[in-house]
Amino acid sequence: MNMLTFSVTFCCILFCFFLAIVYFTKKNMSNIENKIYRYIVILDFIILIFSMGCLLVGNALRFDSKYLVVYDIFARIYCVAQLLWYIALVTYTIIIISDKDKLIGSIVRGERKGIKNTLNILLILSAIITFILPVKYDYIKGGIITYTGIRSDFMTVVIAIIGISGLVSIFINWKKLNTKKKIYPFMMLVVMQLLAYGAFLVDNTINILPLSITLISYLMYHTIENPDIKLINELEIAKNKAETANHAKSDFLASMSHEIRTPLNAIIGLSQLIHDSESIEQIHEDNRDIVIASRNLLELVKTILDINQLEENLIKIENDNYNIRTTLNELVSIINLRIGNKPIELRTNFSYNLPTTLNGDKEKIKSILLNLLTNAAKYTEKGYIDFNVDCENNNDICRLKISITDTGRGISEDQKEKLFTKFYRLEKDKDSDIEGTGLGLALTKALVELLAGEIVVESTYGQGSTFTVTIDQQISNEVVPDHTEVMHHEEEIEIL
Ligand code: ADP
Repeated sequence: MNMLTFSVTFCCILFCFFLAIVYFTKKNMSNIENKIYRYIVILDFIILIFSMGCLLVGNALRFDSKYLVVYDIFARIYCVAQLLWYIALVTYTIIIISDKDKLIGSIVRGERKGIKNTLNILLILSAIITFILPVKYDYIKGGIITYTGIRSDFMTVVIAIIGISGLVSIFINWKKLNTKKKIYPFMMLVVMQLLAYGAFLVDNTINILPLSITLISYLMYHTIENPDIKLINELEIAKNKAETANHAKSDFLASMSHEIRTPLNAIIGLSQLIHDSESIEQIHEDNRDIVIASRNLLELVKTILDINQLEENLIKIENDNYNIRTTLNELVSIINLRIGNKPIELRTNFSYNLPTTLNGDKEKIKSILLNLLTNAAKYTEKGYIDFNVDCENNNDICRLKISITDTGRGISEDQKEKLFTKFYRLEKDKDSDIEGTGLGLALTKALVELLAGEIVVESTYGQGSTFTVTIDQQISNEVVPDHTEVMHHEEEIEIL
């Protein structure tokens, strides 16, 4: 056996093994280059293993001719793998250098099914023909067997045709090639073929094909469009997160400074007016407005703190018995006041099935509904707001299904996705005089989720929106009487 060929083949198998591990365990770009390269790595293995097999069986043949059948099968598989390897490499080269070519591009994208199928059939036919064509084996020395005959002629013709196609493609596309390094593997193949021929002339027992394919595959590994995708993706995600956070922070500061400044200015201005005023009535009115502005400020700070606490998981659910009708009626009073002079009718429909007393976190339910109803009042100019509360009672669980429908301006599809994002306000709201921070819906959603509920929005842009909240509450047997009273503006302030 030629020990040099044996040692080189053995080293090549080891090398390809590690190359395959590195390549297949890394996340790769899913493109045609990588797809072909995957085949090339697999074919490398087949070629190397069967090359080694031929070497060993060829050696054994010296002592026993019955191994000829095994040798023949090994040699046929080796030839087929070798042919497919050449075709894969040339196809790879043609595709990457002709990426702007309309025909090749359309074949790669699968748009020319006919041509693609014909090429696939030709490939399979060449493999089958190579496998079945006979050759004459000449035993030489040291377990090396050379062969001559129709199979090797056929392979030479096919390899010559595809090799020339590769060269022609390179020639045609030479000027357009922006990354020449991608044709290095093909160039190396040409060089290695010449070397193989030279080596064969010197000593026809030397087979440098295993070395060639190993070096070429290694070179391809480095030239292939294959950056560390995973790392890049992770960096990209981290970058986007940082940018979003920065953007959110800027938005927050911008809206906060506006939101905080408005009530503060009102407080300062009104205090000045009180100072200068002589009319007791005027002082009373200004004083009331100061209280409203202060409460608004407090509400804003509370919302920010609530959101922060929710994010830090610091908010706890506090369950207590409460009369659901009292809670709903209080909300109606507040919203009626918030609707003010707008031509909007607040229509309520509270199910008769509503249990008298529920056990749950009344304050959080109230915050959720208050936010939704306030938005309905804020973003509706005329028409109605439907405040429907339905329930499904199952044993001691009451599933509250609360929907708030308005005839406001509605929300478009692309806005819906961002609606529950912190500090998100529609562009036009930012410039309008509708007060808001873009925190209400984010807080609402977080509270609904804390209570293991669900919130859904349906809306037709320009026509109105419906926000539906579903939350389970325990039904309590204790009677909590309904203390509903119609509230006045001052009392609304107290409730908040
Ligand atoms: P804001 O304090 O701005 O009202 P929200 O988080 O409550 O913040 O709402 C976010 C944005 O969603 C609002 O700025 C508004 O553009 C839009 N929005 C919320 N509710 C409605 C609604 N009922 N109709 C139309 N747009 C709405």
